[in-house]
Amino acid sequence: MEDVENTKLKDKIRGGILGLAIGDALGVPVEFQSRKSLRRNPITDIRGNGTWKQPPGTWSDDTSLTLCLLDSLADGFRHSGRHNRFIDSNFFEKTMKRFVLWVEEGKYTAHGEIFDIGNATRNAIKRFQNGTDPLKCGGTSEIDNGNGSLMRILPLAFYFHKEPPQSQREFFDIIHAVSSLTHAHKRSKIACGLYLSIAKNLFDETDLHNAINTGLETAKDYYGNEKEKGYVKELKHYKRLFDTGFAKLSEEKIKSTGYVVDTLEAALWCLLNTDNYKDCVLKAVNLGEDTDTVAAVAGGLAGMFYGVDAIPAEWLDQRFTSSKTHTHTPSAQSFSQALSVPNANPQSVHYTSHHCSYCSFYRWRCVPESVPEYRRDLH
Ligand SMILES: [Mg+2]
Repeated sequence: MEDVENTKLKDKIRGGILGLAIGDALGVPVEFQSRKSLRRNPITDIRGNGTWKQPPGTWSDDTSLTLCLLDSLADGFRHSGRHNRFIDSNFFEKTMKRFVLWVEEGKYTAHGEIFDIGNATRNAIKRFQNGTDPLKCGGTSEIDNGNGSLMRILPLAFYFHKEPPQSQREFFDIIHAVSSLTHAHKRSKIACGLYLSIAKNLFDETDLHNAINTGLETAKDYYGNEKEKGYVKELKHYKRLFDTGFAKLSEEKIKSTGYVVDTLEAALWCLLNTDNYKDCVLKAVNLGEDTDTVAAVAGGLAGMFYGVDAIPAEWLDQRFTSSKTHTHTPSAQSFSQALSVPNANPQSVHYTSHHCSYCSFYRWRCVPESVPEYRRDLH
């Protein structure tokens, strides 16, 4: 039974992280393009150049910050069981330090360089560098509700599956705390809560619409009872998501900006109006505007639900041409290992010598069971 659970967890990690990263990479070359422009020349495949002049397959801040969180969770995330004492206080500091490494040294990037960063995230990292407590770094004003914490929150779903929270309150408190590192306004916290409430269902639910609707209802019920914290007031911003007719809204009614409510709506609308990974992320990118993040947010859930095998192989095969590629190892495997997910028979791992596990999606996909030492050997 444990093996079945471990295999499922590993599949969901790979599907979710690769699904998010590929969605991100699809959107990078056309970030900020209008819907009208993309209707004339839609994205149908992974492209290079464009907005950021990057090689094909380059992921952006969405994936980099997701990998930061993935690595921090892999390092450990103890909790004592007492309310508000559930997280190793070092966890937040270590995560912020990883954000700093990303900004200052290009760690967790595709090619060793950072080319996009949101204002709220940049300000939060600056506050941390100036000595602010990690949990007080995130902006709390209404204008701080970009999608910067929503786009990096997915790894918590994997942690929760392995170490279930002791209560629903703990589930949401942890999510809110991790959002607060960069985005501490309640609207951003709710977006992360809604998103992970759905992701939680994707471990077992076989009907995507059910997974989404049940997840939204669960979170809505929770926030609806949190009057003392002011969540009820904020919940109204997500009203459309709770309407039964949301999925049937026309594309014209769906905004795809960097505002966290728009991004979550657009991503879920794409999931609800497609039936496979590829169509979902392409629809997300072709909505225009914040293309990479809408596709990353949609792609993370789509990758979890449809699985890695549903991601087109040619997209996973994208290799990076930059010489500065070995900046960081994608972390899905180390995360599995840190959660004590036993490796399947390592002898069965296969690889081709010209592919590098430190920089290639192909390697990452091809050596799913490897442990860090094994990857070093391969390299
Ligand atoms: Mg981005």
